[in-house]
Amino acid sequence: MRQNSRARIAELLRGDERNIDVTVKGWVRTKRGNNNVSFIALNDGSTIHNIQVVVDVAHFDQELLKNISTGACLRVDGRLVESLGSGQPVEIQASAIEIYGTADPATYPLQKKGHSLEFLRDIAHLRPRTNTFGAVLRIRHALAFAIHKYFNDRGFYYLHAPLITASDAEGAGAMFTVTTLDLADVPRTEGGEVDFGQDFFGKHTSLTVSGQLESELGALALSQVYTFGPTFRAENSNTPRHLAEFWMIEPEMAFYELEDNMDLAEDFLKFLIGYALEHCADDLQFLNDMFDKELIERLKAVAECDFVRLDYTEGIRILEASGHKFEFPVGWGLDLQSEHERYLVEKHFQRPVILVNYPKEIKAFYMKLNSDGKTVRAMDVLFPKIGEIIGGSEREADYDTLRGKIAEMNIDEKDMWWYLDTRRWGTAPHSGFGLGFERLVLFVTGMSNIRDVIPFPRTPKNAEF
Ligand code: ATP
Ligand code: MG
Repeated sequence: MRQNSRARIAELLRGDERNIDVTVKGWVRTKRGNNNVSFIALNDGSTIHNIQVVVDVAHFDQELLKNISTGACLRVDGRLVESLGSGQPVEIQASAIEIYGTADPATYPLQKKGHSLEFLRDIAHLRPRTNTFGAVLRIRHALAFAIHKYFNDRGFYYLHAPLITASDAEGAGAMFTVTTLDLADVPRTEGGEVDFGQDFFGKHTSLTVSGQLESELGALALSQVYTFGPTFRAENSNTPRHLAEFWMIEPEMAFYELEDNMDLAEDFLKFLIGYALEHCADDLQFLNDMFDKELIERLKAVAECDFVRLDYTEGIRILEASGHKFEFPVGWGLDLQSEHERYLVEKHFQRPVILVNYPKEIKAFYMKLNSDGKTVRAMDVLFPKIGEIIGGSEREADYDTLRGKIAEMNIDEKDMWWYLDTRRWGTAPHSGFGLGFERLVLFVTGMSNIRDVIPFPRTPKNAEF
């Protein structure tokens, strides 16, 4: 075995090799034992499980052993053998140990198990070393990989939408300005406005709230594309479901009508949940046992059931007739709050709901108008525990109707000329949707706060790490 090579702990635990020499490297989770023998639980992040290192105390330098404590990073050479203990299939009989980094028990914050998630948010730089965040981050990775796999296997192209944008017409949320202007000495026009003409891009620019408009440009050439990138919303809403920086997946398909769009969204979500059940079984079991005893059952149920497809108008009728006391008002023309969405999903239908045909007033300008003239071909996918997980629609493909909508909503047409051009030449029926990646990870992990499913959350007054 090469000096520098290391075996991943996941592979040693999974494999059936025995009585071979191995080297593992990782962080100490616990150390226990007596004067003769010491047991070190080592974790390298490749799995929720630790490997047990058995140390024959008499054969090691006592000073070295003293410096091995929770959090320390080690290299261990030794023999991989069948374990005598019941907790694990194999263990390592150590022959040599090197300490890469000690972790002083007097100061290391993750000394004990069972810290609250709130406490861990304050040490976001260290929390990946906990079982919980290890599990969440591995599941997050698996889902990201599965998203690319799903689309690649179905002939979609990954389109990179820009993060810096000059269009603020989408109306999806408040935007963060991007500027290199000197904030201590902002140039002004004669009228007293900030003169963005002198800014880096020669105009006002912001961080994107959605890659959809660009995704549409791609779909009307490549037929089916998707974006998957960071998205920014300066909304001062401190909820467990909103971040200021989150990741969004936005497929956009030419020749898709609303029904096709719903079929894709449902199939996509079920695929992703099924992928996690198959590939992240150990991590899901851990989260199920620790946080949410119904997690795996819920994931299986959603992966197998048919989603309800329901008109907004019918949804409002059900909510009004429910007799349930909601905090926010319910009525035709009003947007649904998460309590309403969750009532439909969790209480009334007990499975995911795709709500369609919303009043045009509460949806974006680009959604296709229905023949009733009052509703648009919007679809929101509503999930248990989450509420809205996907927002999408069939897009308005008709040039004149779209121009009319832009005027009606007081959007400046000269900011949208490039978008309108797609409808001028070779327009096509098309549809798409946006899946909030962290909402998906929330659902799959069963965590209850969105801050706990992204490595470094960005929320109001919080950008430390
Ligand atoms: P909500 O009503 O929950 O604020 P939205 O209507 O603003 O959602 P869309 O503009 O349709 O959401 O965005 C598409 C998807 O992006 C949503 O379905 C959701 O999954 C996700 N999303 C939206 N805003 C946020 C946010 N601030 N943090 C994390 N995910 C978000
Ligand atoms: Mg919103």
